[in-house]
Amino acid sequence: MPWRQLALTEKLEPHPDNPRTDLGDLKALEESIRKRGLDIPLTVVPRPGMDGYYWIIDGDRRYYAMREWNDNIPVVVKPLLSGETLRKRHLLTALVTGTMQKPLDPIERARAYGRLMNEGPPSERMTQAEIGEQVGLTGGTIGQYVLLLDLSPTLQKSVQQGKITVREGSAMVKRARASERRRRGQAPMLPVWDPPWFTRKHPLADKAAARCARLDHSARRRRGKEKNWPGACEQCWQAVIEDSSRAEMLERCAAAVYAADPALAGKWREEAKTLRQ
Ligand SMILES: [Zn+2]
Repeated sequence: MPWRQLALTEKLEPHPDNPRTDLGDLKALEESIRKRGLDIPLTVVPRPGMDGYYWIIDGDRRYYAMREWNDNIPVVVKPLLSGETLRKRHLLTALVTGTMQKPLDPIERARAYGRLMNEGPPSERMTQAEIGEQVGLTGGTIGQYVLLLDLSPTLQKSVQQGKITVREGSAMVKRARASERRRRGQAPMLPVWDPPWFTRKHPLADKAAARCARLDHSARRRRGKEKNWPGACEQCWQAVIEDSSRAEMLERCAAAVYAADPALAGKWREEAKTLRQ
């Protein structure tokens, strides 16, 4: 389907996924369009299931600046590329185009990147590097933006107002995560035990003994036996230590992916919890 140029107003609507939340002051844009006309038509896609209706994928500000007084807004109908979904196209277009637009603020960008990474079917999700390629930034920069999503709403507001830079905001999240890890590290996660090794003083001793009892392992092969404590066999010691170390790894990974994929982080934390039981 080739591009088509139309002029309409009534059958246009901004796309519901528009990442822009703040349209900014439209007065200057309206005046410029009234005086000079529109330089670039809006880009629209046909609305699925609604013949003759369109969603704006580029030009929301121009639309709002004109809709009250212009019955013939020029638009270019741009069909989706094969395999491209509307949502993905829309988010990318909004990120890429800067013409005649108030640029997206850092938090709006961060949300759009986050959605490209985490929403939709897995086959459609993009990595930071893939997004970077499309919008002309490095994957690392995309990562810095995505970290901003972990800031409190107040701090996010400060980023939007330019009081905190993207670099500072992402550094805050990294620092908070590191101190959280240190804080949790003081709890008996996988403490250094050097010696006593395989004795009742080992932080996982009771767990190992319980496993041994549950599996009815022979008392003869148990290590660390004391008067009132049966000890555990080497197989059980090893099993509980491996579980604990795997749980620790899952918790570390969960903390690392939390901003990008809270659902996955939650799943890993659940798994870690089960391993620690
Ligand atoms: Zn055992």
